[in-house]
Amino acid sequence: MKARHDLAVIGAGPAGMAAATLAAELGIDTLVLDEQETPGGQIYRSVEQPSLADLAPLGPDYRRGIELALAFRRSSAELAGGAVVWQIRPDRTINLTRAGDGMEVGADHVLIATGAMERPFPIPGWTLPGVMTAGAAQTLMKSAGLVAEDGVVLAGCGPLLFQLASQYLQAGVRPGAIVETTPRGNYWRAASGLPMAWASEGYLKKGLALLRAIKASGVPFHRRAQNLRVLGETRADALEFESGGKTRWIETPLLLLHQGVVPNANLAMATGITHNWDPVQLCWRPETGHWGGTNREGIAVAGDGAGIGGAVAAEHGGRLAALEIARRLGRITAEERDERATVERAALRRHLRARPFLDSLYRPPDALRRPADDTTLACRCEEVTAGEIRRQAELGLTDLNALKSQSRCGMGPCQGRLCALTAVELLAETHRVDPADIGPLRIRPPARPVDLTAIMAFDDGTIPPEAALPKETAAPGAKA
Ligand SMILES: Cc1cc2nc3c(=O)[nH]c(=O)nc-3n(C[C@H](O)[C@H](O)[C@H](O)COP(=O)(O)OP(=O)(O)OC[C@H]3O[C@@H](n4cnc5c(N)ncnc54)[C@H](O)[C@@H]3O)c2cc1C
Repeated sequence: MKARHDLAVIGAGPAGMAAATLAAELGIDTLVLDEQETPGGQIYRSVEQPSLADLAPLGPDYRRGIELALAFRRSSAELAGGAVVWQIRPDRTINLTRAGDGMEVGADHVLIATGAMERPFPIPGWTLPGVMTAGAAQTLMKSAGLVAEDGVVLAGCGPLLFQLASQYLQAGVRPGAIVETTPRGNYWRAASGLPMAWASEGYLKKGLALLRAIKASGVPFHRRAQNLRVLGETRADALEFESGGKTRWIETPLLLLHQGVVPNANLAMATGITHNWDPVQLCWRPETGHWGGTNREGIAVAGDGAGIGGAVAAEHGGRLAALEIARRLGRITAEERDERATVERAALRRHLRARPFLDSLYRPPDALRRPADDTTLACRCEEVTAGEIRRQAELGLTDLNALKSQSRCGMGPCQGRLCALTAVELLAETHRVDPADIGPLRIRPPARPVDLTAIMAFDDGTIPPEAALPKETAAPGAKA
């Protein structure tokens, strides 16, 4: 790894791989940093060396990643795997930890392509052993070939939940039940997006095929479930919920929860990039221009980290960002950039057509984002309950940063990744305002836990003060 590159891409998922491959093709000296050892990101995790001998359960979408990873490997872009990035300074020096060592690398341009993470699912008992997210279970399947045992229960909403159920069925695992939480009203609200979704790149057909396969399997499917609660003292024994006017209990060795994905925003936030509340996707998303540029000079965001659009949209977003970076570096003219961008933009539009439908249909119900039960943990790291956050709000507290100092909510190792969305919605609900009025948690570097030896590798052993105060040093109007 050289000390300086034209472009550093953080994240080797579809957005990062596509951007880096194109950038390298355009003569840009490109470094890609990813905390995983190999390229693929979330969707194509371990695609170069799949743990499953038979790839059929992972479906045709997974195979697309093989082509993408091959093209990336054939390019001159350099991959530094096992590299956890925890800070991007305003001069685009990147701090990372690799194999326990603290390192830094500079770049003229930085593309943040850190993807998505699962939305928190704060219900009573969600922190008990025996409860995981569906995404984590899928990660185990892709990276280690591990599947759950028969009787696993999947609960929540969103395409990934059904995809995992179908992948398990194909792998010979028989779930005990699928407990779907989509309220009836969502179907009506989503209906207006149906024609556009139908005209999108087969997303609806794919979804219907998954649902048909699940139905054909005969696995019990409970619709419009509410008031979910995990039962158990020291571990999860059963899921309790209401459906069809009845209270039900399902015993299970493993409960997998999922209610959609949101941008994995902490690194972008710690870099001082402006984020706005997205009232449709119910999350913070970075304010980006036409080419992924942000208020931080030379730093762009692409892929699901810039707003959830799915893996193929992420590829196109990555290439668009690469084209503008190539233009800025003088490798192509504005005319060449625009010409090449036409195809990318058209494809991006086609892939985003299904979003309004999917976002409305799988909008998680309020009660599963803002737990009514005050004893439910909102912040897992510091064990702060929903009731404590409501109490702080009733005492007059109106922002997440004050909440953090008063209650430690968001102060643990995850740095708010798993609680900040719940907390902002609880504060907003109590004050009867929009989450946008509450504002995001101010994330400071390091965006990931770093041990002291890694920090001591730099200069005088401190995080440079200009990096710790990104807001004050923002370059106004630098968006592309
Ligand atoms: C758990 C999970 C499973 C999913 N499974 C599917 C699926 O099966 N099918 C599907 O269609 N969609 C799936 N999705 C959605 C899918 O991930 C995205 O649509 C798509 O991968 C987005 O591509 P991306 O390039 O933006 O980000 P990603 O593919 O998420 O890639 C981001 C990369 O950034 C890296 N990274 C993040 N932070 C850092 C850091 N600080 N330092 C270094 N590296 C970092 C990550 O290791 C990752 O490799 C899943 C999402 C999640 C969260």
